[in-house]
Amino acid sequence: MKIRLLALLLGGVLLLPALSACRNAAPIYEEDIPGYESEDGELPLEEQPAEEQEEVEEKIWIIPEQTFHWREGGDTSENMFSRPMRTLHEYDGALYYFSWPPVRYNPQTDVQISFCTDPLCTHDRQSKCPFYGIGSSLVLLEDSVILRREASGLRDPDTVELLDLNDLTLRKLREISGTMTIFGGDVVCGDTYIYVNLVYDEQEDSQMYELCRKDMKSGKVEVLHRNPNRRYVPLFAVGETIYLSCNEDDLIYTAPVDDLMNMAPVAQTRGNWFLDRAESCFYSLDSKTGTVYRSTSPEVPEAIFTVEGMDYFYMTDQHIYYRRVYGQAEEMTFYGELAYHNLYEYYRCDRDGGNAKLIYREEYALGEYTYFLRDFVVLGNYLYAPWTMQLFDGEIDDGKGSDKNINSSLVRIDIESGEWYYIMNE
Ligand SMILES: [Zn+2]
Repeated sequence: MKIRLLALLLGGVLLLPALSACRNAAPIYEEDIPGYESEDGELPLEEQPAEEQEEVEEKIWIIPEQTFHWREGGDTSENMFSRPMRTLHEYDGALYYFSWPPVRYNPQTDVQISFCTDPLCTHDRQSKCPFYGIGSSLVLLEDSVILRREASGLRDPDTVELLDLNDLTLRKLREISGTMTIFGGDVVCGDTYIYVNLVYDEQEDSQMYELCRKDMKSGKVEVLHRNPNRRYVPLFAVGETIYLSCNEDDLIYTAPVDDLMNMAPVAQTRGNWFLDRAESCFYSLDSKTGTVYRSTSPEVPEAIFTVEGMDYFYMTDQHIYYRRVYGQAEEMTFYGELAYHNLYEYYRCDRDGGNAKLIYREEYALGEYTYFLRDFVVLGNYLYAPWTMQLFDGEIDDGKGSDKNINSSLVRIDIESGEWYYIMNE
């Protein structure tokens, strides 16, 4: 298969202890401490006699030779809106990839630009990099991204910030105390910031969901709804109208920004969803059953099609893209138990599920690399996804992992030809 051919194995012959896979630099284990002796009396690897070491062939992945080209046309997403939590976002013809450091990628020219434009910045705390610590628990709105800045040391609290994708400026929305759990339910509408929290209530001895509204000018915060079970999550704003979802009835509600508890149900969704603004309806996926639903009202949504094992979907104006579990890779763990890793197929189909076309299938074979895609987006003729590569060797993992996993940047798959183009970190 073509994909497999790309994994060129370079016969680098290294002197390594026979029982150890390639040792990685990052984690420090007890055996790495000089003089450490394990419980079974085995000497640290560095002190093993040379005759116990043997030649082990190291498999190294290198970027295949590739040339960049761009085909015009393909799918558009002008009418589609979703509110995903993922690391890759498409906006206004560009891709935003929240790796470290975050980058903006131009798919037509293959040029990546770091969010931090200071060429001398080392992107750490000392350099006062504006993007230091951001990147997890993010929610993608249309032209902005809600980000969480992890505490950069004990001095600073975690914060929730708004990144404007038009000018890459950051705006602090709130601080998070250690007792709060955030759900990525955040919407900014003009100077009003709406969010949901889970906080511990000492009097009730219970966790409470709080729907909050903050006036960004005055800093005043109002708690509009408080309940241990019922959770309203702000989704997005259209003009002065806020859309919210509710976990108890799977309904999507709308409400005026200045009268938020005056909610009216507009649609029912099951799992992750897309709003089609042209059709004024929601499409959603129930990942337990693999069924895609269409909802134009709060009544029972219409089931459109079902694919066994489908657990993620993406919509464009023309198509539905999805992945489905078709099997599992298995491997022994350090503790001698079998571990399973889902294997996926990626498809494009019509909106009614017809004309399904296989785009990529994760192939698993002992001793071979398997390429895994993560949550993807589609732009034009291409599917883009962060990817990792894992070598299944069927042997007991040494518990240190990582040397069998290669984490990289993005891959672009031509939907028609299946050709891969690797977009590597610069
Ligand atoms: Zn920087």
